[in-house]
Amino acid sequence: MKCRHVIAGIVLTAILGAALPASAAADEIAAPSAAAAASQADEPLTLIPLGVFTTTGYCPCGSCSGRWGRLTSTGALAAAGHTVAVDPRVIPYGARLMINGVICTAEDRGGGVRGNHIDIFYDTHEESRLHGAQAAEVYLIQQ
Ligand SMILES: [Zn+2]
Repeated sequence: MKCRHVIAGIVLTAILGAALPASAAADEIAAPSAAAAASQADEPLTLIPLGVFTTTGYCPCGSCSGRWGRLTSTGALAAAGHTVAVDPRVIPYGARLMINGVICTAEDRGGGVRGNHIDIFYDTHEESRLHGAQAAEVYLIQQ
């Protein structure tokens, strides 16, 4: 009996050992940009790189959001520094993302937001216009 216990222990260690490096690698890649945000929270963030996305800006004005104003497609009220619009086929609603060091939540969509494109919410049209179109590395925050 004792012998069989030892073998089971070795197998378990081998499985855990194989599973760990993948998540550890994701941590290391994102470590520099995660440091600032991680200091706000007690737990370290695990960031999964999603690649480079085109980011644009939008606001509650009629030209950006039509009659919807701040009302997002998920029912949440859009807030600057928090809300981004995504293509839900690429990024699921509710996902927390790190974009340019800011933690955002995917809670809106837009007619022009398709594929690797994220629309970032701003309070004013001037700010959204100044954002222009920028390429940014996007990370999924594992939760
Ligand atoms: Zn606008």
